Amino acid sequence: MRILVLARKPSLYSHARLVEAAKKRGHEIRIVNTLRCYMNISSHRPEVRYQGERLEGFDAVIPRIGASITFYGMAVVRQFEMQGVYCVNESVAIGRSRDKLRSLQLLARKGIGLPVTGFAHSPGDSDDLIRIAGGAPLVIKLLEGTHGRGVVLADTYNAAKSVIESFGALDAYFMTQEFIKEAGGADIRAFVIGGKVVAAMKRQGKKGEFRSNLHRGGSATAIRITPEERSTAVRAAKTLGLNIAGVDMLRSNHGPVVMEVNSSPGLEGIEGATGKDIAGAIIEFIEKNARPNRTRTKGKG
Ligand code: ADP
Repeated sequence: MRILVLARKPSLYSHARLVEAAKKRGHEIRIVNTLRCYMNISSHRPEVRYQGERLEGFDAVIPRIGASITFYGMAVVRQFEMQGVYCVNESVAIGRSRDKLRSLQLLARKGIGLPVTGFAHSPGDSDDLIRIAGGAPLVIKLLEGTHGRGVVLADTYNAAKSVIESFGALDAYFMTQEFIKEAGGADIRAFVIGGKVVAAMKRQGKKGEFRSNLHRGGSATAIRITPEERSTAVRAAKTLGLNIAGVDMLRSNHGPVVMEVNSSPGLEGIEGATGKDIAGAIIEFIEKNARPNRTRTKGKG
């Protein structure tokens, strides 16, 4: 097969591993910088071009679209979809996963466990927003944060109020969320490929830190997840329409709750923690599923 990876940095561990795994399985694979792709949007012959060349003849596209370029990346993926090229995660699903509010709404509609969450722009109704999240302590998050930036644990009502006021002053959207204390500073990342959890890890924040992000010094270990966690992760990926997803959950005393579903989950942490060949599993999934005109928008909303 001929596989195209849309990614900005070929040297990143995840991208290098995809190239290695594809070559090992006898495929041709190429990485192009998503932001350097440009398009000819004509109705009869949609094209994606790169340095003067038409990108064509690919059997599959693996989109690895970073959060900061979602808007443009989705347009490039969409352009391949219009040509009938199989995209392992489709553009609409990527868009859903990137919009935290939209994904939480979709997951809630399917009855998937979520932390109780309030969402607002104006800090004017902070009392009610704090109440929705069950009062202090509560977690307050900026909608646009990544790697745990903009995620604050407010221990007291007054702290919560001043965090909300300062987020409000930034003119930013924010969420108030029930604090899942019993998660003990750990979360679970389940890696889903084609409706199955292929690997799972537990990320534990460093001492005194409630955020488990590896970028903040958290550590990852392989973990056996429960059947309920497994089915929650699979349903979450399916609800958003993602074939490949990293589903982040917290272990709450009312069962697993989903925090986020990632459409370009990193491979380094999960392969390192579990010793599994996730890149190989992605390529294998593509071998089984890539057919022209097979990318279809699944789900609603
Ligand atoms: P980001 O997308 O920036 O990583 P998250 O929403 O995933 O932000 O939050 C970062 C970390 O903070 C999570 O991995 C988790 O460990 C912790 N965390 C987030 N929300 C909660 C919550 N409601 N209760 C307990 N811990 C939380």
